[in-house]
Amino acid sequence: MKKILTVLGARPQFIKASVVSHAFRQSGHLKEVLVHTGQHFDANMSDVFFNELGMSKPDHFLDIHGGGHGAMTGRMLERLEQVMLAERPDAVLVYGDTNSTLAGALAAAKLHIPVAHVEAGLRSFNMAMPEEVNRILTDRVSRWLFTPTNAATQHLVREGVALAAIQEVGDVMYDVAIHHGQRVDATGRVLRQLALTPGTYVLSTVHRAENTDHPERLQAIVDGLEAVAQHMPVVWPIHPRTRGVLQSTGRLAKLTPKLRLLDPVGYLDMVQLEKHAAVIATDSGGVQKEAFFYKVPCVTLRDETEWVELVEAGWNRLVVPDSALKIKDQIIHAAGSFGKDLKPYGDGTAGMQIVNALFNI
Ligand code: UDP
Repeated sequence: MKKILTVLGARPQFIKASVVSHAFRQSGHLKEVLVHTGQHFDANMSDVFFNELGMSKPDHFLDIHGGGHGAMTGRMLERLEQVMLAERPDAVLVYGDTNSTLAGALAAAKLHIPVAHVEAGLRSFNMAMPEEVNRILTDRVSRWLFTPTNAATQHLVREGVALAAIQEVGDVMYDVAIHHGQRVDATGRVLRQLALTPGTYVLSTVHRAENTDHPERLQAIVDGLEAVAQHMPVVWPIHPRTRGVLQSTGRLAKLTPKLRLLDPVGYLDMVQLEKHAAVIATDSGGVQKEAFFYKVPCVTLRDETEWVELVEAGWNRLVVPDSALKIKDQIIHAAGSFGKDLKPYGDGTAGMQIVNALFNI
């Protein structure tokens, strides 16, 4: 049986892999070996997704996290090379745009193992983002480029990638929303626990380095969310990186109690919170799309987005986080403002298509 070695490391990758790994198991023809780099390791950033989404435990856990981008990626490269030499896979599968993605792709390419990239072709055209560097380099060394949208496909075509290498399969996050998102409806647990009334609150997430590592941007976001919290509840499951920055600057202790800070929540609780929010304000890629899947207006706290189709269709408004007042106004205005109907993320079979494409390696 042919062997695929999948490299995972960060929260969104565990979520995306849940449907693709399931499809591998269903196929019965490809054996998948899971390697967890350890980039995200807290129980609520990692284990909860393996448990909730029915994933197998990783075959290898490398326990690599922290440090600068270069140090982290370098340590991953070294260990992944050892694992790949020992496992001798027929292909290596990577997701998205994290350091784990790049390390997996690069280690494999140097060992002449073909690379499959899920979420290929996304571009922000902002090379200051570590994610943009990771995704461009990963695409460059990949043998199979699985794109989530037509815009992503067009980026690769413009960059001269051979058409035969590109497969527009749709977005695996949409598959996940279909497979697991539906499981949520029966349990109103998290809303009850937080005493939230559906349709009356704002849900926020913030974790991108371009926001957390720039004090004036993070300040504008926090001030903007605090201002919104004077009007309606704001629920904020806070990413460990963001919590760390707010803690080290002394800002965390001074936040208004009206801002409902939570530890990161599991996927099912997150979807529950998303489905019933009046507005979602985020810098997350995955959360922008989930807002759309559940027909909730979204404010994206960034300079640009890879998910341009949602901005064009009116579901998502880009707000550069340089003014608290602007952030507050845009969030308040977004409530009740819905976009056009569209279906840009495939038909929910991306995972199956990826597995089928790898069938004959
Ligand atoms: N998510 C979650 N709990 C949280 C915050 C996010 O389960 O407290 C999920 C969210 O529903 C989405 C994914 O994590 O499926 C998005 O990951 P993240 O925002 O970390 O990364 P990005 O999508 O920006 O790469």
